[in-house]
Amino acid sequence: MDIGGLETVVANSAYVAARGSVDGNAAATMRDKKLRARLKLPHIKECEHMKTKVDSTFESMCVKQPIGKRLFQQYLESEAAHKTACELWKDMEDYNISEEKDRKQKAQKAVNKYYDSASKTFCSFLEEKAIARVKADHTNVRNDLFKESEKQLHKHLETKALNSFKKSMYFLRYVQFKWLEGQSVTEEWFMDFRVLGKGGFGEVHACQMKATGKMYANKKLNKKRLKKRKGYEGAIIEKRILAKVHSRFIVTLAYAFQTKNDLCLVMTIMNGGDLRFHMYNVDEKNPGFKEPRACFYIAQIICGLEHLHQHRIVYRDLKPENVLLDDAGHVRLSDLGLAVELPPGKDKTKGYAGTPGFMAPELIENKEYDYTVDYFTLGVTMYEMIAAKGPFRVRGEKVENSEVARRILNDPASYPDSFSKDCKALCEALLEKDPTKRLGFKNNCCDELKNQPFFKNLNWGRLEAGMLKPPFVPDPKMVYAKDIDDVGAFSTIKGVVLDNKDTEFYNDFSSGNIPIPWQEEMIETGVFGELNLWPEKGKLPSDLDP
Ligand code: ADP
Ligand code: MG
Ligand code: MG
Repeated sequence: MDIGGLETVVANSAYVAARGSVDGNAAATMRDKKLRARLKLPHIKECEHMKTKVDSTFESMCVKQPIGKRLFQQYLESEAAHKTACELWKDMEDYNISEEKDRKQKAQKAVNKYYDSASKTFCSFLEEKAIARVKADHTNVRNDLFKESEKQLHKHLETKALNSFKKSMYFLRYVQFKWLEGQSVTEEWFMDFRVLGKGGFGEVHACQMKATGKMYANKKLNKKRLKKRKGYEGAIIEKRILAKVHSRFIVTLAYAFQTKNDLCLVMTIMNGGDLRFHMYNVDEKNPGFKEPRACFYIAQIICGLEHLHQHRIVYRDLKPENVLLDDAGHVRLSDLGLAVELPPGKDKTKGYAGTPGFMAPELIENKEYDYTVDYFTLGVTMYEMIAAKGPFRVRGEKVENSEVARRILNDPASYPDSFSKDCKALCEALLEKDPTKRLGFKNNCCDELKNQPFFKNLNWGRLEAGMLKPPFVPDPKMVYAKDIDDVGAFSTIKGVVLDNKDTEFYNDFSSGNIPIPWQEEMIETGVFGELNLWPEKGKLPSDLDP
């Protein structure tokens, strides 16, 4: 074995070992004790001034932020007046992620406990209409059985419990966590493992947050290369969009910081490789996917697109290469470098962006467009999964981009026999050349698309909760990335000088911890539980001593 090959083997084994040890509770054993010790709550005196400044709206603090929600629920449980409401909240959430076979029984229990006016735990804050509907419907297995009730429960808690929560010690604890979350983050908190891939401005490495043991991917953007190739705007857009979206179908940004030479985006690590690799490089004699497997991935991609579009973001670069697998075989959209956000009041955008062979006709023709372009790329991606070639290319053919564009504008795709009737119908509806007729995002959701016959056997509720078993599970011992030598090096950048304006931009970019993913990490790795200690009942912890 040559030195390069040896380097890959050594790097792979360190990376596989770190990855394997991070499952479940074992993360604690991989922590760096010194850095873990630095994650500690401040004395309340140190952060009291933040009480009026922290994000404390109901929706954000008590529902969206995982630590805020935990502490709010702990408060509710501690108050006799709110205990039942909290139990209802948890039971509704449990129902939503339960399997069909258990749902009937769970719904029946909830009806008896909260919806029956003779019950001691009857929830009188629920409106009669909502009560009647749940009572009438609870024997059917539905994803939205408690949707209305949940809204009313939240409204009730917002008016009846939010203010008293803010006067409780649980809120002070929230402020302490927000203080910790707001501390700056530097490279010293991360340990780099092997390179996973190469981007336009730098390498992407596997890395580990030393204090918690959690693995991430660190996408580095070289400062000088960024400046030389005018990448600032793209970089900040990608960062801003990644920080804004929170979906299990899109890679999550957890930290943004800088080093002397690089800007760093620390994101969900996707160890399973990209869909292009799985279509063409795993079983080379049988490229592409069978329909059930394609159906699962397409459904997860639709959930990712729906989330982006609900946040007014056009992705523009959907293709198999940008869809990455995690350890379990679930997929997420990645590489949001070409995405654009539609500003309020403006519903269309312009601009040539994307990958040849995938771009929608309206984009190629330089017309104004919106989310519709992403459903065309979805059609191309889906076609390619089944046919193992793009709809506007002949396998093995060398063809100019302009010819591919001409075909996209003029030629219908032809479908090999391997397409089932439902699959072909869906592809055709997505590859529709007229964007006004194309299937896609309507009334702020993808329901019409989700209800197509191709998905008739799919439980969307469980898919959206991440509870469906993926059709393929990546091998935990395998490294789905190129050998280190084959990743390719960057040339050195000469003649670029960085000045104060650059520094200002880097500081703006390096906003540190992203609240929701940071809180998730603290909970999932057990650090939240270790820090959130309470002494005996009735006593304040000394750090909360006013
Ligand atoms: P660029 O926008 O510069 O093209 P990408 O975001 O596509 O950069 O990242 C470059 C490569 O790094 C990808 O093709 C992939 O191989 C790898 N990569 C990117 N993000 C992740 C991730 N979250 N997990 C694992 N590998 C990743
Ligand atoms: Mg890329
Ligand atoms: Mg990119």
